[in-house]
Formats: sequence, C-alpha cells, structure tokens
Amino acid sequence: MIMEKLALLGGTPVLKNYPPKELFAWPIITEEDEAAALEVIRNNKFSGTDITEKFQNEFAEWQGTEYALAFCNGTAALTASMFAIGLGMGDEIICTTKTYWASITQAANFGASAVFCNIDENMSMDPDDLERCITPKTKAIMVVHYFAYPCDMDRIMAIAKKHNLLVIEDVSHAQGGMYKGKKLGTFGDVAAMSMMSSKSFAAGELGILVTNTRKYYERAIAFAHYERNDSRYIKECEELKPYSRIALGGLKGRANQLCTAMARVQLKYYDERCAEIRKAMNYFWDLLEGLPGIRAIRVDESTGSNMAGWYCPHGLYLPEELGGLSVKRFCEAVRAEVLGGICWDGGNHCLHTHEFFKTFDLFNIGKPTRIAFADRDVREDDKELERSANLCCFSVPWFKHFEKEWIELYAKAYRKVIENYEQLLEQDSDKSQGGRWYGQSNEE
Ligand SMILES: *Cc1c(COP(=O)(O)O)cnc(C)c1O
Repeated sequence: MIMEKLALLGGTPVLKNYPPKELFAWPIITEEDEAAALEVIRNNKFSGTDITEKFQNEFAEWQGTEYALAFCNGTAALTASMFAIGLGMGDEIICTTKTYWASITQAANFGASAVFCNIDENMSMDPDDLERCITPKTKAIMVVHYFAYPCDMDRIMAIAKKHNLLVIEDVSHAQGGMYKGKKLGTFGDVAAMSMMSSKSFAAGELGILVTNTRKYYERAIAFAHYERNDSRYIKECEELKPYSRIALGGLKGRANQLCTAMARVQLKYYDERCAEIRKAMNYFWDLLEGLPGIRAIRVDESTGSNMAGWYCPHGLYLPEELGGLSVKRFCEAVRAEVLGGICWDGGNHCLHTHEFFKTFDLFNIGKPTRIAFADRDVREDDKELERSANLCCFSVPWFKHFEKEWIELYAKAYRKVIENYEQLLEQDSDKSQGGRWYGQSNEE
C-alpha cells in the first residue's frame, strides 16, 4: 500500500470543492410549503387549531395509531407523555444515559427519578442492562431510537411485560422508522417525538404525541391543551372532568400552525425522501465495509427494519483496532480531508455525567431533586455506566440524495484516514469519548 500523506499533516485533501448545496440541504422546501405558510400568515392563523387538527388526523393515519396530538415542540410532547402515563412522585423511569436531555430530564418535574441504563454498540438501549435498573419503584422505560437506530423492541417489550412496566418511545431521531415491519412509536404505550428544524421530520418547531390508548390521549390534552380540555375531548377520564379549560400541567403546549401547515406538506413527501436518504447512506456505508476501526450503525433492511430518515448518522469507533488512535484525532483528520466541518466525535454527552442529575434542586427544598422523593439513591457510580462512557462514535455526512460520485469522495476521505492512521499516533493526547451538550460549539 502506498502511503498517502494525510491532509491534517500537510498532504492534499480528498475534497477540494464544495458539493452542490442540495446534497445536504434539509428540509426540502418547495412552493407548496411556502404557500401553506403564507396562508397562515395572511389569515393570522398562528394560534388556531383547525390546521393542526388536520395534520393530527393525517399523521395518525400515517403513523398507524388511533390518536395523534401536536405540541409546540418535542420536549413538551415528551413531558405530556410522562403525565399521560401517570408518572408521579417517587416513581423511577429508566432511560439510556446517552441521549438528548429532553428524553428524560422532565421526569424531575413530576418528582420522579431518572435511572440510567447502558447503551450497546449501536449506541442504543442495551436490553442486557435493563433488568439491573428495575426496582419495585420502576414505573416506565423511556426508549430512545437514538441516531435513528431502532431499539431491540422484542426484548425491551418482553422485559417491560415481565415486570409490568409502561413504555414510552422517544422517536425524535427516527420518525417513520420500522422495526421488523412495524412502525417505531407503535410499540410502547405512548410515543412522542420532535419535529424541530434539524430533525429528519423537520417542520419548524413542533412535536407530536401518538398513542392507541384513549386515556393517555385525554391526559395529554388536559396537561397542555387548555383550549381542548373540555367535554369534546375528555370523555373517559372522569378524574379530569372537574378541571376543564386550563392546562393541568401549567404549560401551554399548542402547536404554532405555521409549523403544522408546513408539516402537512412535509408529510406528503416524507417517506419518498427518506427512502432516497437510506439508499444514499447505505451506499456510503457499503463503501466502508470491512475497514478496521469503524462499524456502521445501521440495520439490515431485509429484516423489515430500517433507519427512517437516518437522522444524525454515526458510526461506532473502535480505537483498539487503530493502534489506540483517539476518536478526536481521527475526526480531526477526516475533517481536514473534506470541506464543510463534517465528522465530529461523540454525539451527546452521557447524561449521568451532568451535574443536573447529581445535585440540582428544582423544588428548592435543600435536596437534589433526582433523589428527593426516591427510596434509594439512584445516582449511579461511574462504574455502572463506564461501558457507555467509553464507547466512541463519530458522525458521517447526512446525504439527502443518491449522488454516487460525491458519496464515493466522502467515503474515500474516511478510508484514507483509516489506511494511514499510523501517521496520526504521535501528538494524540485527548483520549476521551468526546461529544457535546447541545448548543455547545464543536470546538469547545
Ligand atoms: C430533539 C430531541 C428532543 C426534543 O425535541 P424539541 O422539539 O427540540 O423540544 C427530545 N428527544 C430527542 C432524542 C431529541 O433529539
């Protein structure tokens, strides 16, 4: 093999020109989206629910659930899902440590304790670690289909059933994805997801909750939809009937119709656009198959599972196969080969490492909220989640179109770094897992 000097060390980069903007541009906006938005603006329809109700009906049909309820964002939809299942003081709810904060942080609002579970090599919930986390206080499991990878729902649902636990799915990374022929978000008792502007289902700032259980739907309405909290919607939940017309969670959850109008248009083309993304992403990963140090995070589509819109595509990084080269230096070297700041280490930081989950006192009672109402100290010691904190991953380009030549060039950049990794072993000091809190710049 001929040694090629890496661009980071002064060699010639693989990519010398920027790709066409459309290769990565997202969401795809046409005149149809613009017309839908203008209709809202010109008629001052931001705060109504007429367009939103149409979107909810269309979304429920597409999702294959009885009910869909739109929210102003995914965080609010997830918060409402916790109220929907009756999460309360002293309850424990299990979630993976590596996810965005809004999967689980809101448990504190209910006086419940988040309990963190390890991830596996696909960066998603490790079913083998789930039972370790279960106690008599466990009420629910929050399953996150992280980086669009569908979790092992067969095993997770079997464990939930065995221990009589409720399941919420956070589908914010995997709208429309499938697990063995069944849509993500239809396994648990309730599911919620974000559709904010960087997600694969992108519609401004929006969230949605879906369920087949009337009771959960009604509770989610009562929690945050004051204008719908009345006898038109609240039919089964007797306990809610005295409390109509205000938001019981003290939160206004209504979606901005500028976003639901756009979401209606996006939904029409979503499956088709995601199919093209998957074709492009699978081709990219096929080109890197068999290289040491990296593994695709993807599923075999012949099983009926898929990677949805392949949100935030990542690969697993195995430093031991590349002489211990750190993920940080690996990514730095790939970035030097391409243009446009592609290839970052880490994904989200592990939540259990955040001070919020150790000491923060939301209720101002002189006690960390996470353990304030618990019958044990749920705060894990670093050993229990060491495995998750040591797993490394790196991002790859999120191709929106099957442009073979461009995809091949990007794959070549990754391949070049791997084939010449030895050049990087000197001056490789930071061996951490990497990652960031959302909002933190990549350079911090
Ligand atoms: C984006 C996201 C959320 C929160 O959604 P918002 O619409 O930003 O409030 C929740 N969970 C996960 C996994 C996310 O990525």
